[in-house]
Amino acid sequence: MGFEQVACGFCGSQVYTTLFEIHESPDERQPLAWRGTSSIPVVQCRRCGLVFLNPRYDDERLSALYQDPQMFTGTIDPEGRRRNIAAERQIRVARFKDDVDALKRIRSHGRLLDVGCGLGFFLEALGDKYEASGLEWSHPAVEMMKGLSFTIIEERFPRHPFGKSEFDIVALNNVLDHLPDPLGSLYAIHELLKLGGVVMLSLVNIDSVVARVYGAGFRLLGVNHLYYFTPLTIKRFLEKSGFRLLKIEYPYFGTEFAKPLEHTKKILADWWAMRVSRKKETRLSPPFYGSMMRVFATRMN
Ligand SMILES: [Zn+2]
Repeated sequence: MGFEQVACGFCGSQVYTTLFEIHESPDERQPLAWRGTSSIPVVQCRRCGLVFLNPRYDDERLSALYQDPQMFTGTIDPEGRRRNIAAERQIRVARFKDDVDALKRIRSHGRLLDVGCGLGFFLEALGDKYEASGLEWSHPAVEMMKGLSFTIIEERFPRHPFGKSEFDIVALNNVLDHLPDPLGSLYAIHELLKLGGVVMLSLVNIDSVVARVYGAGFRLLGVNHLYYFTPLTIKRFLEKSGFRLLKIEYPYFGTEFAKPLEHTKKILADWWAMRVSRKKETRLSPPFYGSMMRVFATRMN
């Protein structure tokens, strides 16, 4: 119960290889909707190479996750520490500065839609250079944003109230890989954008060095990350839905997470330990260059 079997979200094939499994968190401090004891297979399509969860949470379970207010006020991170995302507003807004600077280099102004805007951290980081609004499915998140000055629409993308070609920029920060149908969502984004408009995506890179070394211990895996892209698979998704890839950046250096020397040492030590240990030990990866992708593409036709 709570799971559904799916075909490949890109090519429709039902033939896949299981790479490894990720585990639900049984931690009793987790919100109820986020707690569980199941293992979820991370699979790779044998025809096109797309990586995704299968079976994955069904719609009922996804609704329970995103409509749980505790998601924003009391979760447990990979290290087992208690987190209150709502209370981390300042640091989370500051964290988006790097993304905003990157966007400014591509498009310095215009009408922008932030799809899956969460608690509005990216909107806040944007400042007043853009005419920005947000779309968010989570009712508790929308409630928490009341009192802020942003225009927020409560809707589950790809549903939205906008007309065709209304936006210069559509941004999805750590969102596309959470959506049940990323290809359909990219078609919807294509329609929302003006010709020559830009889509900005922040995504986990499952082809990164760290993802390859750590497997199930890659810290950016999650039960609600339904898809895991690579530079190649996201390029294919974008081209199929009418976009031309402009650039892929790998945010790490210059961010608060960058400790290159320490992280390189840990990766080498862990790699060695996991290779020589006989009991298939899993270790938790550090942040590292290549783990996150920031993708810009433009609407072609
Ligand atoms: Zn496929």
